[in-house]
Amino acid sequence: MLSRRIQTLSPSLTIAISSLARDLQEQGKDVLSFSAGEPDFGTPQRIKDEAIAAIEDGFTRYTAIPGIPEVLDAIKGKLKRENGLDYDRDQIIVSNGAKHSLFNLFQALVDDGDEVIIPAPYWVTYPEQVVYSGGVSVIIETDDRSDFKITAEQLKAAITPRTKMLVLTTPSNPTGSIYTRKELESLAEVLKGTDIFVASDEMYEKLVFGTNEFVAVASISDDMFQRTITINGLSKSVAMTGWRFGYLATPNSELISVMNKLQSQSTSNINSITQKAAIPALNGEVDEDIEMMRRAFASRARETYELFSAIDGLSVIKPQGAFYLFINIKDISDNSIEFCKNLLSETGVAVVPGIGFGLEGYFRFSYATDMVTIREGVRRIEIFVQNLQSN
Ligand code: PMP
Ligand code: GLU
Repeated sequence: MLSRRIQTLSPSLTIAISSLARDLQEQGKDVLSFSAGEPDFGTPQRIKDEAIAAIEDGFTRYTAIPGIPEVLDAIKGKLKRENGLDYDRDQIIVSNGAKHSLFNLFQALVDDGDEVIIPAPYWVTYPEQVVYSGGVSVIIETDDRSDFKITAEQLKAAITPRTKMLVLTTPSNPTGSIYTRKELESLAEVLKGTDIFVASDEMYEKLVFGTNEFVAVASISDDMFQRTITINGLSKSVAMTGWRFGYLATPNSELISVMNKLQSQSTSNINSITQKAAIPALNGEVDEDIEMMRRAFASRARETYELFSAIDGLSVIKPQGAFYLFINIKDISDNSIEFCKNLLSETGVAVVPGIGFGLEGYFRFSYATDMVTIREGVRRIEIFVQNLQSN
């Protein structure tokens, strides 16, 4: 009865584990969840006020499909001011979160049998959306020895005549790694002369620590600008996960126009109130709130990294950004699902198995929660690991 297409789709593992942890908590179980990719901060007051004003003003009707002109201009301004990228209004489309932007993109560009190169570990959603569009995911595996980043040689080896697109995520979910300008330049060199698109997922742009620098992929060269689709949103940087605001920009206006067509037949415009509320965030009016959250994440990253580094049997690379650690368990387990299942049932700690991100031998720990909870979680993990080693 069900379509063949829908039967190929798996549910989001990150969401599944976060929901399971929430259910257990609601049943009164002592569960500490480090599974969610969601800031624990509230949305800045300035944004909430703007939304309330939009409701009071009756801004509650359908809007233009890609977003109201003011929001498109705010995105245009942000991309110019912060990333040095010049897009016109008709080269931008707003969707219901960056997840929706990516969905539209794969539907609009990928044909049956087209190959999309995805470095692993990857955010769980990419391969699912690629397969749903009829495409084939070509996975390049990395590991902690290269800070989970692909090299130019790996990219070259993965390209075939069917390659349509490369997906890059910097800073990365689930590893917290960031590509340097030089690394991006060497990937750009491999792509030169091909007609391969790059989907650059920049959701964690604002969460960069220490001396690390965020470099927008499209800003590397004119050649990269032409082939790159820049994807971003406000969920992580402005703590607006529930508002559903994502966007995509490309110099290819035709691509935007077909995504408008798809959106016009699927979701229509995103919530009108969210559009109004997004404008001050894009215009830099809540930069102080963003910086406060970034500092908190940077400080938690430092302490959490030190706590895990001290545990015998685990190893972890220094986080550069985002709010995740991708922790190596190869010395103690070769099955990350079993490891995470037992960890949850024996200690009440919820984390996400590496295999869900396409890489066995790791788990993802999100430190988007307070330090008291983190310290207790790490303490429980340490005891669990010690027990595993002594058995
Ligand atoms: N990309 C990455 C790498 C993510 O971690 C997320 C978080 N869910 C998204 C895109 C999508 O975010 P949203 O749909 O909330 O904008
Ligand atoms: N991106 C977040 C995560 O990786 C949210 C969950 C999801 O959208 O998959 O946990």
